[in-house]
Amino acid sequence: MFKLDTDILKISRVGQATAKRLKKIGIENVNDLIFYFPFRYDDFSKISKIDELQTGMSANVIGQIELIQNRRSFRRKMNITEALVSDESETLKVIWFNQPFIARNLKIGDCISLAGKVDGDYNDVFMKSPVYEKIQNPHTPLAKEGNIAVHTQGLVPNYHLTSNITQKQIRFLIKQVIDSVKLIHDWLPAEIQKNLRLISLSQAISKIHFPKNQKSINEAKRRLAFDEVFLIQLQSCLTKIELQSNKAEPIEFKEKETNKFVKSLLFKLTDAQRKVSWNILQDLAKDKPMSRLLEGDVGSGKTLVAIITMLNVVLSKKQAVLMVPTEILARQHYETICHWLKIFNIKIGLVTSNDKKINYKFNEKEEKIKKSQLVIDNSQIVIGTHALIQEKIEFKDLALVIIDEQHRFGVYQRKILTEKISPLSSPYQGEEKKERLVPHFLSMTATPIPRSLALALYGDLDLSIIDEMPKGRKKILTKIVEEDKRQQTYNFIRQEIKNGRQVFVICPLIDISDKLGFKSVKEEFKKLNEIIFSDLNIGMLHGKLKSQEKENVMKEFLDNKIKILVSTSVVEVGVDVPNATIMMIEGADRFGLAQIHQFRGRVGRSDFQSHCFLFTDSESARTKERLQAIVDYHSGLELARMDLKFRGPGEVYGTIQKGFPELKIASLYDYELMKLAKEQAEKIIEKDKDLNNWPLLKEKLGEWEKKVHLE
Ligand code: ADP
Ligand code: MG
Repeated sequence: MFKLDTDILKISRVGQATAKRLKKIGIENVNDLIFYFPFRYDDFSKISKIDELQTGMSANVIGQIELIQNRRSFRRKMNITEALVSDESETLKVIWFNQPFIARNLKIGDCISLAGKVDGDYNDVFMKSPVYEKIQNPHTPLAKEGNIAVHTQGLVPNYHLTSNITQKQIRFLIKQVIDSVKLIHDWLPAEIQKNLRLISLSQAISKIHFPKNQKSINEAKRRLAFDEVFLIQLQSCLTKIELQSNKAEPIEFKEKETNKFVKSLLFKLTDAQRKVSWNILQDLAKDKPMSRLLEGDVGSGKTLVAIITMLNVVLSKKQAVLMVPTEILARQHYETICHWLKIFNIKIGLVTSNDKKINYKFNEKEEKIKKSQLVIDNSQIVIGTHALIQEKIEFKDLALVIIDEQHRFGVYQRKILTEKISPLSSPYQGEEKKERLVPHFLSMTATPIPRSLALALYGDLDLSIIDEMPKGRKKILTKIVEEDKRQQTYNFIRQEIKNGRQVFVICPLIDISDKLGFKSVKEEFKKLNEIIFSDLNIGMLHGKLKSQEKENVMKEFLDNKIKILVSTSVVEVGVDVPNATIMMIEGADRFGLAQIHQFRGRVGRSDFQSHCFLFTDSESARTKERLQAIVDYHSGLELARMDLKFRGPGEVYGTIQKGFPELKIASLYDYELMKLAKEQAEKIIEKDKDLNNWPLLKEKLGEWEKKVHLE
């Protein structure tokens, strides 16, 4: 038996060349090899219809015997059994050689299952010497389940392979070392294995490579998938405990001032905004740091909840910071928040890599310095971008961290952020009380994250949801516009602008590209500015503009000086220009549904009727169907569901999964498993949060964390 750390070169038939190739897929020793799991199995028990059979394929067919007989082939001196087998699609000829007993075993009318290779030519296929098995008639009601024949060929594993290694080769290698699974220490606590009836790790590994049947695969996968999500849940439970063991500054709810603020608004808070704000303010009043995720569709009014929260922090004479993913959004929040909070005379600072400013007069000398640290020291509320964590800055009195559009930040970015901001901001309280104070943490997102995913990614956060839109919002009328109606659309736009409204035009690219057909911002800008709306003021916005240019454009758009803003997806998140009522999207097929929904969320922010026009050059029916979903559905949740159907989870939730440990077996969308793992993790930690009772588990978690941080 090979030791687990045996170099693969020691295994028979592995030379330098093969070792090098194996190394490319991360296999250097026996342990790596047995943990290299197959991703699928050649499954002969998958039943094919006879009319689907093609020469050369391996297939399993189930049918009824129409005819069966033996005959002698005198020329070749052998016995040939011939049968005709039919399913509802076709009839198939089957031949066996020198097994005359088959014709005695099988009778006309019997149901059989056949597995083997398909022979013959294009219009006449047959099976030669398939393995056969008599089964119950699948059409009798009793035989629904368990009727599928379990074939002796078993299930053949298939591995993801690159660099010139064949399936046969890797199977052969794994077969050689599979006995070494006995040397693996099972780190999962025995009580969990027993409670959940999980098989042992060594069994699971043997079965995942060489399963007897589907049941073995299921057992193996269940155990291995559990392992993956259990570690995630364990870590997030520990994080939560660690967070809660910290102390935070309790922030008192200032009812009078909060009411004053709410009354100063031109509208009423929605019930959802009220409820969520209340939950948050209750959290803040505790001396434990809040860790909360706030989910709410685009336009549901999350910013206001953030403002109410920050206001209470400031009223308690503490600092609050709001971090956002883009400079444009930071500036806009800065403007909005300065505006909303005018009546309170609060010092509000803005820190991005390009701006350092505060809505309050510095003295002349300070004015010249404009350093981030200076702005922060003088602000009660700080709004900023990544610059906040990249620059060396310190907060003296920070009691609240809010991240807007959380989905734009990876999980570990979030960790770094809280860790980076927290220690700096946590002065030790006097000599006698050496306790760290950690700020409260609120994270906001418009992405409707499924519960399983939220549990996996943000297991350490409590969840609040704004499930209601402000009253009086009109549905945004959405249309896929055919190219021949383009002029008509421009006419409509002109009319809207005459009525005082404004327009967004989104293009997939910045520059004119050789990829035919994709609209670019520069090109469209030129066309609209010089030809179609030459009498109107048109603006252009994209990531390559200088910071000052971006700011000017946004400001002019907000002030209704620019009537049409041609932009890339930089306006995707957060931008709030209520007077804009038309969202025109070029090359819409290039964007995901959730993303288009975000674009669309830029309009419909006032009482005016808003419109969203989708343009596409794509003729594909599937694309049209996908875009039709935007026309039909208006909730982010619904659209995320459709997007999942069309594009799969990787595409839809790719950004929020960034920096998340890769799962080989488990699915992030398996809520039941995630929940089970969470329960078990909580139980374990309740008993002994230092894991000293489970040294193997402790070691495993350490290794896992190290690996995750490296990824
Ligand atoms: P999001 O949740 O997408 O961040 P915002 O906070 O930007 O949404 O709010 C969208 C728009 O709705 C803003 O113009 C905001 O002023 C407005 N708004 C927020 N709450 C309400 C409300 N209760 N009633 C009416 N309008 C509201
Ligand atoms: Mg927002």
